[in-house]
Amino acid sequence: MSVKPLRPLLLDRLLVDLRRTFWIFDWDGTLIDLAPTPDSIQVPPETIDHLEILRRHCAGRVAIVSGRALKDLESRIPLPQLSLVGNHGAQWRVNGQYGVKKLGQAEADELKEATAILSRLSQKYPGSELENKEWTLSFHVRNVDPKKHQSVREAVYHGIRQFLHLQIRPAKSCWEIRPLSAPSKGDAVKHLAGDALTPVIFGDDATDEDMFLTAPAHAITVIVGPRRPTQARFSLSSPKALRDILRELAGHASQLGE
Ligand SMILES: [Mg+2]
Repeated sequence: MSVKPLRPLLLDRLLVDLRRTFWIFDWDGTLIDLAPTPDSIQVPPETIDHLEILRRHCAGRVAIVSGRALKDLESRIPLPQLSLVGNHGAQWRVNGQYGVKKLGQAEADELKEATAILSRLSQKYPGSELENKEWTLSFHVRNVDPKKHQSVREAVYHGIRQFLHLQIRPAKSCWEIRPLSAPSKGDAVKHLAGDALTPVIFGDDATDEDMFLTAPAHAITVIVGPRRPTQARFSLSSPKALRDILRELAGHASQLGE
């Protein structure tokens, strides 16, 4: 299936339908530019303002759905009323209500052991970084010499293979390690957006494909950046292109009044 640029559709249709949409954004690499480490991302203050304007205009139907821990998202997005979903759907704050999917004991034990193994690997491979998100782990290799990627990959897979309750998913310059029973971002989309609304979903990475696949047929799904093939119907070139669109949406919403 070919992917079409979003822009012509946006101007003709989305602005008209703003009040009937549910907006779902992945964070890193989608709305915010990737940085050398997860901690060093830059969040433009105006993007936060635009998210808040859109949220008010859409009666709260705006959410960030990310692989980051919920606490981490809350510290970077100072909008107490915005819905946030962390750990690919395992933790959430939706309409002010907090929730978390409980980990089974076997999964919790294995995650702990996997953390110890991966943390030793991160010391062995310069530039690698283990991000411990409690529910899931990310092993980042963005700053590892590309010639070493294959051997790091083998070491990570070898280290995790013994665990019966964990899975590995490759993502952009990292591997996500999570419980087999972990929800996906697609589960988050199902919970957030009712059938009556048009979900508009933006993502850039492998785990965002779960959202594109789960979305109802009438949803507007948008891949941000170069990832292909994709299940998304539309494309945008970069996080900056998405932030520009968010600015337009916020401007349009402000003109309409709240
Ligand atoms: Mg992303």
